[in-house]
Amino acid sequence: MYRELLASCQLCPRQCGVNRLVGQVGFCQAGNLPRLGLVSLHHWEEPCLSGTRGSGTVFFSHCNLRCLFCQNHAISQGTAGKEVSVERLADIFLEQQQRGAHNINLVTPGHYAAQIAEALTLAKRMGLVLPIIYNTNAYDSKAVIEQLRGLVDIYLPDLKYIDERYSTAYSQAPDYFRYASAAISAMVQQIGEPIFDSDGIMTRGVIIRHLALPGMAEDSRAVIRYVYETFGHSVYLSLMNQYTPLHQAVNHPTLCHCLSAEEYADLVDYALALGVENGFIQEGGAVSESFVPLFDCRGA
Ligand code: SF4
Repeated sequence: MYRELLASCQLCPRQCGVNRLVGQVGFCQAGNLPRLGLVSLHHWEEPCLSGTRGSGTVFFSHCNLRCLFCQNHAISQGTAGKEVSVERLADIFLEQQQRGAHNINLVTPGHYAAQIAEALTLAKRMGLVLPIIYNTNAYDSKAVIEQLRGLVDIYLPDLKYIDERYSTAYSQAPDYFRYASAAISAMVQQIGEPIFDSDGIMTRGVIIRHLALPGMAEDSRAVIRYVYETFGHSVYLSLMNQYTPLHQAVNHPTLCHCLSAEEYADLVDYALALGVENGFIQEGGAVSESFVPLFDCRGA
């Protein structure tokens, strides 16, 4: 799915139609070649992904949402990163495997889905056997998710908002929920029930993440309810408590605060009362700028 999609870019719901092959850029600012901010072993993902040896994260620069509170704004909206060829990207996946990573964790891959699909195909031919995680903001095209069938083993989508007032104000995407819910349904349909190995490491499955934001309790409850009522126990829900005011959120009237312990505890109680059993929560103290990696292009 490479050339034709980039020549008039339709990789995500923004459908910019720009020709990325000749240097034009759309909303996400991504060009023709994949741009990487960091290649690392990450020990702070959900335990079934990080395990003991770490998740093999590959952080991609640029983003099609550009949230005003983004903790990775240095690469999502700044200029940090290094361009690599599709062949080099395939080698990077193999290097992560040699380092002992439990999996390949593609962080914010949507705007490079075509190039990543090529690199994965190449790497698998050269011996890549690790589970592949598609760690996405979920503002994805359902058609692109369909084309990843057979290449991706674990989907790790955010479900950020339901209410379009928030998705418009924070991510310039009034239609976020419509596209994200369709994409996540396609992911669940493609992957099926979660599977773990004998060490408790996930080898196949869908984990839906929701980052709890201050002043948004009602929408967070709606997200939890939607996930549980739609997918039941066939997915895991990861309720994240690591929100830290950064980037443009520092001067925002609501987002300039951290989430209180009570607000987060209320959400966890709500999920439990609904009947959510497959889930992850973050302990107190998760809030910290130390969750933000240093994007120095290591490993690229
Ligand atoms: S991937 Fe980027 S250029 Fe392509 S449609 Fe989405 S925002 Fe536009």
